Amino acid sequence: MQDDDILVYRLGATCDLADVEEQKVYAGKVQGFANFGMFVQLNDRIKGLVHKSNMKSEHKEKDSILVRVRQIRPNGNIDLEEIQIKVYQVQNIEKKSTTVRISDLGSRIGKTVAIEGEVAQIKQTSGPTIFTIVDESGTQNVAAFVEAGVRAFPDVELNDIVKVVGEVMKRNNQLQIEADAITSLSGDEGETVRVRIEQALDIRAEPEDIPLLVKSEVMERLRPGMKKVAKIIRKAIFTAQPVILRHHADADGICSAVAIEQAVVALIRESGGDFDAEYYLFKRAPSKAPFYEIEDITRDLDFSLKDHVRFGQKMPLVVLTDNGSTEEDEPSYKIASVYDIPFVVIDHHHPDATIDKYLFAHVNPYHVGGDFGITAGMLGTEIARLINPKVEPIIRHLPAVAAVGDRSEAAERSLYLSLVRDQYSEEACKNIALALDYEQFWLRFNDGREIVKDILNISGNSTRHEKLVSLLVEGANLMIEDQMSACIPHVVPRDLPNSAKLFLIDVEIHAHKFTFPPPGKTSGEVHDRLCRANEGSPVVTIGFGPDFAVLRSRGVLMNIPRMVRELRTEIPGGGISGGGHLVVGSIKFVEGMRNTVLEALINKISVAQVQK
Ligand code: MN
Repeated sequence: MQDDDILVYRLGATCDLADVEEQKVYAGKVQGFANFGMFVQLNDRIKGLVHKSNMKSEHKEKDSILVRVRQIRPNGNIDLEEIQIKVYQVQNIEKKSTTVRISDLGSRIGKTVAIEGEVAQIKQTSGPTIFTIVDESGTQNVAAFVEAGVRAFPDVELNDIVKVVGEVMKRNNQLQIEADAITSLSGDEGETVRVRIEQALDIRAEPEDIPLLVKSEVMERLRPGMKKVAKIIRKAIFTAQPVILRHHADADGICSAVAIEQAVVALIRESGGDFDAEYYLFKRAPSKAPFYEIEDITRDLDFSLKDHVRFGQKMPLVVLTDNGSTEEDEPSYKIASVYDIPFVVIDHHHPDATIDKYLFAHVNPYHVGGDFGITAGMLGTEIARLINPKVEPIIRHLPAVAAVGDRSEAAERSLYLSLVRDQYSEEACKNIALALDYEQFWLRFNDGREIVKDILNISGNSTRHEKLVSLLVEGANLMIEDQMSACIPHVVPRDLPNSAKLFLIDVEIHAHKFTFPPPGKTSGEVHDRLCRANEGSPVVTIGFGPDFAVLRSRGVLMNIPRMVRELRTEIPGGGISGGGHLVVGSIKFVEGMRNTVLEALINKISVAQVQK
């Protein structure tokens, strides 16, 4: 072989281990020395070792040198030997397009590949470091090992754009890449990949254009907003950002949240990553108050920050449903904004415009001329279908349950009920709603993920569903009857000047405490019974305790949030707060001002218009 036949390769700046081949000769530069040999760089990223037994001459740092690749070891180390030739041809090597998309890895098992993407999580295990990489097509775990429990590639940080080279393996039935190299791509190169992924994800996150389950003008007008929320949630899933879903702890809030939960969990499973990703990337939790209170944000923040520090997780996207629209949520939004936590809200409470500056998206029927009759469960289910249309068969009855649970009187109520009439009668929906309320009482702050799936007949075991619901309904009704027999005899009636019938019940002393039904539902039950007994008349029921009152009304045009605001300025020292829906709500005050507040409240109700 003539010397001038010998090819010497020069690696381009972006070349990586996948571009290096054994037995080939490369042009390199001496990087440094150790007592067993010297290190030679083939480009800025790749270096190999020339053992001293393979050195042919004396060198100093930065000397140009020719080397042959003797071996590439499984851990990515390269053994080189020095070559001395005078005449040769140089061939430049530009990066081979070995980069594959994450969604194509399934066909590359056993092969060494390169992927490019964003680091979405860095988790140190007692063995390897696990990097979760996200590209435009999916999520992939990459294991890198230096020493048990030691962080591999310490320069690589969360949110970096990286190139990973490694072998595709199957572990515990899941794809994993065992990394030879993880390199952060900086400058233009990183930016190009980031933009490419960003643009592709933007298209991938766009929800399918599917029609609503029912014909509804109001909801049709909400569709752009619903698509926006669905897109934000899809994008969070595709970029392995944790999602926290908070909801009002009643049947409507649960239905809305569970519909979204089903869509999100199925999509997380589809997009790859860890087998338990659906647990640490998604959390559903009820809010006890009818708003997102400081206790809620504090818990969410506490957990998220710990996960961020401990498991290298991103900060979450928070989705609020059947909650979140009112100024009562503002203190929590303020705290969250310190940490730049994004929020989206799906609610049907009368919205206060002041909170919109904290939200990435806000779906609310009041924005488009609708009202609370479009329940959160209806909105949540339609949004869940946009997030992941595949879950529709298991969630299409949830709007009907939500509608009866929240006593919707909108036209959509009967549309959603007829949609599922074959499987669920109105009575069945009412029972499911009551079972949800009752079970949530015992669950307290827990989400009861699997129990709730049985109550909603989502787990696929209909026999168990029926047994459980009928048992819960029986239990709930027994306790409601017990409560009613204790408190109904103590209801105090009063005729108001506007011809409305007012009923007052002191739930503090005439109802069982700390049990089911709680004060709000107790007042609601009393109200329902009084409405039936006073068919045709406008009825207002106030259930009150030492420092709160719960309002229910029929046929009286009230605006509870506005009345609360007015009382707050009219009664200094009343300690007044509260809100809710226009005609169903609650108010808090200080005990010493109870009578003053209640009388002022009744005065306002006395002048409210009644429906003829
Ligand atoms: Mn609701």
